[in-house]
Amino acid sequence: MPDSDLSSVQNVPEIRHNVNLKSMNTLGVETHADIFVEIQQAEQLSLLYDENFFSDQPPIILGGGSNLLFRGQPGRPVLKMSMKKKEIIENDGGSVHLKAGAGENWHELVSFAVDNNLGGIENLALIPGTVGAAPIQNIGAYGVELKDVFVSLSAFDTVTGEFEIYTAEDCSFGYRDSVFKHNLKGRVIVCDVTLKLKRSEDHTLNISYSGLNDSLKSKNIDQPTIRDVYNTVVAIRRSKLPDPSDIGNAGSFFKNPIVSEEKFESLKADYPGLPGYKLEADEFKIPAAWLIEKTGWKGRRIGNVGTYENQALVIVNHGGATGEEIFNHAKTIQQTVLETFGIDLMPEVNIIGNQL
Ligand SMILES: Cc1cc2nc3c(=O)[nH]c(=O)nc-3n(C[C@H](O)[C@H](O)[C@H](O)COP(=O)(O)OP(=O)(O)OC[C@H]3O[C@@H](n4cnc5c(N)ncnc54)[C@H](O)[C@@H]3O)c2cc1C
Repeated sequence: MPDSDLSSVQNVPEIRHNVNLKSMNTLGVETHADIFVEIQQAEQLSLLYDENFFSDQPPIILGGGSNLLFRGQPGRPVLKMSMKKKEIIENDGGSVHLKAGAGENWHELVSFAVDNNLGGIENLALIPGTVGAAPIQNIGAYGVELKDVFVSLSAFDTVTGEFEIYTAEDCSFGYRDSVFKHNLKGRVIVCDVTLKLKRSEDHTLNISYSGLNDSLKSKNIDQPTIRDVYNTVVAIRRSKLPDPSDIGNAGSFFKNPIVSEEKFESLKADYPGLPGYKLEADEFKIPAAWLIEKTGWKGRRIGNVGTYENQALVIVNHGGATGEEIFNHAKTIQQTVLETFGIDLMPEVNIIGNQL
């Protein structure tokens, strides 16, 4: 059992009914949970298991709601992860293991690391959401992914009622992907995550991402520190991405598609400006934003839903949009891109209800 001993185990958590989730998803969709439980301690999951809470249907696990679209009513119990705690659990001089509870805010964890001169996650600053959700899609930004610093996580299996430790290998991390989006989807609840970070003198910064590098150069920073990279990432993100507290959104709605070299070359013949990033296995990753912009969707609004004016990959709720409206908007974009380029965009956002 992670963290606390049995003497500190709380009672079965309060079960609330008809809870409005509008303020708990960054798209700002109004929807109500028939059954809603907030988890403050991992051990409460065992107590719920003993009460047969998980025997009928898997719950919806909710972190910060920044990568979720509720199409309609949840239709299943919602478990909100609020387990707080962060601690440095190992220190061998050059590197440390930092362990954090699933309910910790991700950006606050990054800030904590930077404040303590620990490097490894500074490029992942300002990604909304919780620590517990970070492994689900192997969050990534500016050339760094969670898997680069991941050691292990502890999770509760809602089928067996056991806590298990998952190593990086167990998680099968990929591009915005992990085993928790496939075989273990909905079954496993992440309780805490442990990362390996390096002290500044032993840390090699990753500033290979051109936008980051250019921005540092423009500020005449030749020898950046961990904090310089952090500050620069924060500034770039603030200038490019819509703040969910100003306008509802869930970040990138679609993943960047990966196509074969043959497909890339044939598209390039028709669209010479097509950008692409060559991967190792004769494959190319194409920016989904470029495809969406090319089909005329950037900044376009239909009713309450639109595509963000500065970033075509972000779908925004201009106010009052239902989950179904947002879903239909995404579906129309998906169909247009398929008809134009023969590429089927896959959602990065987790859709609760039927999938795209
Ligand atoms: C403005 C904006 C910018 C963003 N930029 C990026 C970016 O640069 N890179 C990036 O990778 N992502 C980005 N995102 C997406 C999002 O921030 C991440 O996916 C984040 O990890 C989601 O965290 P969350 O707590 O909000 O998860 P939620 O949206 O609450 O949940 C996401 C998924 O994880 C599951 N889940 C959540 N917590 C747990 C848990 N403890 N155990 C098991 N399953 C769980 C949920 O059931 C759901 O399937 C962005 C989002 C926004 C709004």
